[in-house]
Amino acid sequence: MKKHNFYAGPCILPQEVLLKASEAVQDFNGLGLSLIEISHRSTDFVAVMDKAQSLALELLGLKEKGYTALFLQGGASLQFLMVAYNLLERKAGYLNTGTWSEKAIKEAKIFGEIEELASSKDKGFNYIPKMYGIPTDLDYLHITSNNTIYGTQMNSFPKTKVPLVCDMSSDIFSRELNYSQFDLIYAGAQKNMGPAGATLVIVKEDILGKVSRVIPSMLNYKVHISKDSMFNTPSVFATYVSMLTMQWLKDLGGVKAIEEINDKKAQLLYSEIDLNPMFKGYAAKEDRSKMNVTFNLTDEKLQSTFDKMCADAGVVGIKGHRSVGGYRASIYNALSLDSVGVLVDVMSDLEQSKG
Ligand SMILES: *Cc1c(COP(=O)(O)O)cnc(C)c1O
Repeated sequence: MKKHNFYAGPCILPQEVLLKASEAVQDFNGLGLSLIEISHRSTDFVAVMDKAQSLALELLGLKEKGYTALFLQGGASLQFLMVAYNLLERKAGYLNTGTWSEKAIKEAKIFGEIEELASSKDKGFNYIPKMYGIPTDLDYLHITSNNTIYGTQMNSFPKTKVPLVCDMSSDIFSRELNYSQFDLIYAGAQKNMGPAGATLVIVKEDILGKVSRVIPSMLNYKVHISKDSMFNTPSVFATYVSMLTMQWLKDLGGVKAIEEINDKKAQLLYSEIDLNPMFKGYAAKEDRSKMNVTFNLTDEKLQSTFDKMCADAGVVGIKGHRSVGGYRASIYNALSLDSVGVLVDVMSDLEQSKG
């Protein structure tokens, strides 16, 4: 039986994407060869890369606005330092909304002065700081749009003239936004786009070339742009599957259509958390994530009972991150409303039997 997959990452992908991907691993485009045994410079793969880049910009409404989409490697974690390597001359501002922001800050400090403009560490990162000033002399401001571990998500973004850099690893392609307010967006594929191994970077070209240091080729956005993400062998499989997922999303009606479904899923689950006395939410209500839903049992002694009920219903992957505990249900684009319904039924069954 196929499980209801709530893992935080790597995570669920659309079933039809998995099917197409497995066919391409056997025989790609009827070439009599596997996708993963042909040259990345072959016509068939170059078409995949072109399509992936073009779909990424199209889905976010960033076509012909001076942006380039790159499919790189090294995960979002490599972007923590690559952003600073390419953009930080003197001083950058960071919003500290959790573990991933902290890691980004740590790497950026290697390259210059970092000003932490605000932090939600005082309350276990369960909210998004809102009142803070933004100096005008920053090289850039770095934010994390969705905090995968704590289940918080930014709903409004800082208005500033300095370049805005956003780690969008766990909510890219999940909602409509004015994406042109960002100058650089990055996301590891494995949260909402594809398998681990590819990292999407969308960069506005006019912010590059302003630092004085020498940047090694592999870490230089300009080099990757000039070689169309083919400076070295790209992650062919992860890029291909990401392309299929983006195509799936486009056929569904794009981010507008998926946002409507994502809203329904989040609403269903959060209302159960709020109405069912056996559970309480972790994140501040106004900052709740529509991708990662964090909650706890009000009576921890019921943990093994609830865990068993989930397992019996085929619900997997809801154990909270080790740094927070409790539960986290990741309800990414590919997870169906039906799967959320199954989890909600288990939660209400727990109340029926113990409440
Ligand atoms: C998972 C995650 C990362 C780390 O991604 P890697 O690809 O494993 O380096 C960074 N930022 C956010 C918001 C994440 O969810």
